[in-house]
This record gives sequence, structure tokens and C-alpha cells, in this order.
Amino acid sequence: MTTGTVFVATCDLAAQVRGRAAPVSRLEQTLRGGVGWVPANLALNCFGDLAAGNVFGSVGDLRLMPDPATAIVLPAEEGTPGTRLYLADQTGLDGSPWPGCPRGFLRAALDDLRERAGLEIHASFEHEFMLEGGQQGDAPPFSFQRARGAEPFGTDLVTLLEDAGLEPETWLPEYGPGQFEITLRPAPGLAAADRAVLLREIVRDLARRRGHRATFAPIADPDSVGNGVHVHFSLRRAGGGGPVMYDADAPGRLSAVAAAFAAGVLEHAGAVVAVTAPSPSSSIRLTPHRWSSGGVFLAERNREALLRIAPTLAIGDADPAAQLHLEYRAADATANPWLVLGVLVRAGLAGLAAGEPARVWLESSSEADLAGEPPLPASLPEALAALEADDVARGWFPPELLHTFLTVKRTELDHVAGLPSHELCRKVADVY
Ligand code: GLU
Ligand code: MG
Repeated sequence: MTTGTVFVATCDLAAQVRGRAAPVSRLEQTLRGGVGWVPANLALNCFGDLAAGNVFGSVGDLRLMPDPATAIVLPAEEGTPGTRLYLADQTGLDGSPWPGCPRGFLRAALDDLRERAGLEIHASFEHEFMLEGGQQGDAPPFSFQRARGAEPFGTDLVTLLEDAGLEPETWLPEYGPGQFEITLRPAPGLAAADRAVLLREIVRDLARRRGHRATFAPIADPDSVGNGVHVHFSLRRAGGGGPVMYDADAPGRLSAVAAAFAAGVLEHAGAVVAVTAPSPSSSIRLTPHRWSSGGVFLAERNREALLRIAPTLAIGDADPAAQLHLEYRAADATANPWLVLGVLVRAGLAGLAAGEPARVWLESSSEADLAGEPPLPASLPEALAALEADDVARGWFPPELLHTFLTVKRTELDHVAGLPSHELCRKVADVY
């Protein structure tokens, strides 16, 4: 690209990708000095309201500093110019990290994981979404006809993701009406969360250009199927060391390190869910028998678990230690991926510090066995209250970030107050 624009963006507390464009002719200056940004933008909610009473007011200036490693090209097509999208860190005018920056929140958590525990995390965000428009709507779940009905969108999406270096793994027609799923290869923590931010924008942009509308809403219709974001993650020794989650002799084959990390996530589940499923409709998805997550427990290969021990392949000489990982199931695409991975790491670190392993429910456990496990927060207000009441979790956040998060989320609740659940779900779906 020699002419046109580049777009420099952050992903905010409402998981909206917002930023500014600069001409390609100024790329060098833009990479060096970023583009301007406003602190109060962090207080925008998903409906575009600026949260009154935010701590920033009308003053202050920031820079959005593009990270060249995140750049993706959206190619030109007839009638639509191409562009290059960069994800950015939010900094002060001197380039110093800004405490409100969600990407900085993840960076700091990853640094602490390395320094305090000698560990790194690799992750992959598995996304479901619904595609409206086109011919795929009524075709059966998982069917070839559903996949073909969504062409050329499906093939174009896989190609775009490959060209953008996001390493797509599978593209599939899912269970719900018009629902699809896309999975990517795992990547080191920051890159994995960056990929999740980019993936959603690539899907939405391509869908629009192919005459569809894509929605990643947690649940577009309360009587139907939800769209999850399942976060697959594994821990490794820092500095390129090997995987540390596998122990052939332990319950669920989960090592002591992995079981303690998981215990932290379970212990702080209320606060974690406030961040990972943070829209007014998110809790409607997180109810039992939806295979989203039906309770706060860790279980082997169980799709109702908050933390699922994912299966390993035993075909050929596949090494289980390199494959064994956990899947956190209670996230959705109304959550900021940097914050999602950041709170999982923070909760896991708390678990490592406590050193107590989580209870592993084996694959043979029945629903009756699991009935005594705690439920997830029943609503967003309940989840936000759990976050505020959790002294440890509050300490994970710079104060202005936590305060703004809570304020933004409460203004979203105000925006939909009194709406019947169908309308509430639709309103959230229209944004995401
Ligand atoms: N749609 C389910 C969810 O809301 C996930 C189904 C699956 O296991 O893929 O999380
Ligand atoms: Mg799925």
C-alpha cells in the first residue's frame, strides 16, 4: 500500500475497536509518535454513551502508539479501499504506559507471571458468531449445506485470516441457527489476545462486504443458542521452556501447577466473570444446559464446566504433555480480550501463590455429582458486585481502570433497564 490510510486503534472496555486513521504517506511518523487520543474515551459504553461521573472529564491527552507486530491488511475490493489496521498501546505524551490501557493491563499481568512464577501462557480464543443474511440460515447444524450456503464468506474469511497471519485452524457451521465457529492456532499471550481483537473486526468487515451481518452477541435470542468465546490456554516455563500442565499420574492428568492456577480462577470466579462476560445479556448465556458454562468447577472434558480440561490426541506419536491445556468457557465477545486473558492470569497467579490444587471432576462425574458446585453470578449486577467485593481482584487493576470499568458497565445496565429479555438481547446483539 503506497496510498490510502492506516487505522490505529485500541479495544476498549466495551470491546469496541476505536481509533483514528492517518494517511499512508505519514506511516513513519505515525509509527514513531502515534496518533492522538482522549482519556475520557475509555468511559464510552457499548451504546456510545459517555459515562457521566467518569474520572477523566474534559482534560488530558494520550497517544495511541501502534504496535507494528499487530498490523493486518484488509485488501481493497471494488468500491471499498483497503486499509492497514494497527492495534495500539495507550501512552502518555512522553510514551510512558497509561494505567487505563487494557493492553497494558495484560502486558503487566504477563510480566508478573514471568517474574513471580517463571511461566508464560499460550492461548487461543475460539469464537462463535451468527451470520444473518445469505442462504445458510435454515440449513441443519454442522451441515455441509450450511457451510456452502455461507459462501463465499467462509472461504474468503479463512483466506483473509491466513493472509493476515492469524493461523486459522477450523471453520465450522455450529449448532445454533445461522451460527458458525472459527478457531485459530494458539499463540503467546499478548499475540493471542491481539488476534481475538483483530478476528472480530475481520469477520464483521468481511460480513458487511459480503452482504451479511455478523453478530458475536453472547445471546441474540434468549430462547436460542449463545455465542461463546472459549479461551484455551496452556502454561509453559518462561524463556522457551516446555509445557508444565501435564502429569500422567494426577487427577485429570493435571499437574500441581495447573491445578493451583485453576484453583485461583475458581476462587475468584465472580470477579473474573464480571470481566469476561460483561454485558447486560451475558448472564443469560451462562445458564446450565447450554454448554456455555453452568457452574464454577473444573472438569475433565465437560462442556458445562467453567474450566474444562481439554482432550489430547493419541494418534500417532502425539505427545499429551504438549497438548494438555485448559479451556475457560465463560467469556464472550462483549469482553475485551486483553482484559480477559489478564484477569485469568491474575486469578491464576493468586492460585499459584495459595498453592492449593483445584478439585478435578473426572469425565465420569454425573450432573448429580456436580450439583453442589457454586453457580456463576446470575446477572451482570451480581458479577460487578462480586468484583467489587473481592479485595484480591480489586488489587489487580489500576484504580482508574477499575472505576471506569464499573461505571461503564453500570451505564450499559441503565441503558437497557426495564427491557424484556428479548429486547435486551437484541439491543446488545445490534452492537456486537
Ligand atoms: N454455544 C456454546 C456457548 O455458548 C458453546 C457450544 C460448544 O461447546 O461449542 O459457549
Ligand atoms: Mg462451539
